[in-house]
Amino acid sequence: MLPAQDAEALILNLVQPLDPQQDIEMLALQMASDRVLATSVSGTQDFPYWDNSAMDGYAVRYEDVQACRVDHPVTLEIVEEIPAGYQPQKTIYTGQAARIFTGSMMPVGADTIVIQEETRREADRVTILAAPKPQAFVRRRAEFYQAGMPLLPAGITLSAPEIAVLATAQCITVPVYRRPRVAILATGSELISPDQPLQPGQIIDSNQYALASLVASTGAEPIALGIIPDEPEKLQATIAHALSIADIVLSSGGVSVGDYDYVDRILADLGGEIHIRSVAVKPGKPLTVATFSTNREPETSPPIPPSFILYFGLPGNPVSALVSFWRFVQPALRKLSGLSGGWTPTLVWGRSPQELRADGKRETYLWGQVHVVDGEYEFRLAGGSQNSGNLINLAQTNGLAVMPIGQTVISAGDRVQIMQIGAVYSNFQMGS
Ligand code: AMP
Ligand code: MG
Repeated sequence: MLPAQDAEALILNLVQPLDPQQDIEMLALQMASDRVLATSVSGTQDFPYWDNSAMDGYAVRYEDVQACRVDHPVTLEIVEEIPAGYQPQKTIYTGQAARIFTGSMMPVGADTIVIQEETRREADRVTILAAPKPQAFVRRRAEFYQAGMPLLPAGITLSAPEIAVLATAQCITVPVYRRPRVAILATGSELISPDQPLQPGQIIDSNQYALASLVASTGAEPIALGIIPDEPEKLQATIAHALSIADIVLSSGGVSVGDYDYVDRILADLGGEIHIRSVAVKPGKPLTVATFSTNREPETSPPIPPSFILYFGLPGNPVSALVSFWRFVQPALRKLSGLSGGWTPTLVWGRSPQELRADGKRETYLWGQVHVVDGEYEFRLAGGSQNSGNLINLAQTNGLAVMPIGQTVISAGDRVQIMQIGAVYSNFQMGS
């Protein structure tokens, strides 16, 4: 049984990220949200593009107005009005000013803006009532960015601020990594899909749905391959197919020590190299991690070249399957997707108002809700049993309290490390 930290390091080391040459697609900017930038981008325009005014007011020559006071105002002749989007036609000479608005281009000759609140206007003359600072309220060309310099690095997720930067740089088609493909299969002869009537002894497959949702929310493309009974030939054929179409294969179930747990044997028969068989975590002890070097099915569209595939055999218990995904699959998927960092889960310290218990033999994850209360993280254990088959009280989980090996109790009010697995908000919701 591998300690969790070692398993995480080993898995991340096995991941071969998508190739910035081959695994790339060009997307229209408006389609690129939440995708990973595949090459660094630089712009061909300075930003600001030209000197412009940061305020509504008057563009002046500083030397003309530097000595102004209320009792010693200076009156200037307005030679031009410069609305937004207009290219000034006149040069500002001594004794002159231009009426200007926020974002408008500075006229030649002027170097300073006097805000309109510090002026008095009479027809085509303006009286300046207070001396501005030199170059006040002028945004200089290239002050924020110089053409040709790096603008955005490869390996970042594109969200609103980056999309705005790309728009400004006129980058209307964006090179992003293709989404990783993740094949998902649920193993177990007892499983039925949710649309089938339940017969005695059967279990409804929830893992495939949960895993597909997690895969999609990590930015990858889930490919659900259905329920496969515990029959070695069928299982082998499905796993072989999965390996031919995906970057990562996830299966749930069949990796324990039961008589019908065939997955590990099949992976070995298919030429996989098994790196992990179990991890010292609770829930989620049975975890198989294998790698394959394989050829692709030619009909895959777009064709994916032969490569290295990661296989995760996740435990069947619904809570265990999800916890294993959060703890071990998600970092691998994030690294594979081309992200240059931020692969591993976010751990924060918070307080638990309740006592927390574990057996101390494995690193234990207790599920519940984490919120910010009075500026501090607080963890509340999910109500009901912390049983790896209890998927019902897993709903609304956004944090796992992590109890290290050797620790059997965290007293009420003490600090606990929390693995964040979703957005954290202030205060607890009603009913939680
Ligand atoms: P296994 O790891 O195959 O021994 O399965 C452990 C437990 O998880 C058994 O109770 C299974 O019925 C249950 N289980 C396995 N696969 C799924 C699934 N896809 N959805 C829900 N429960 C499952
Ligand atoms: Mg099973």
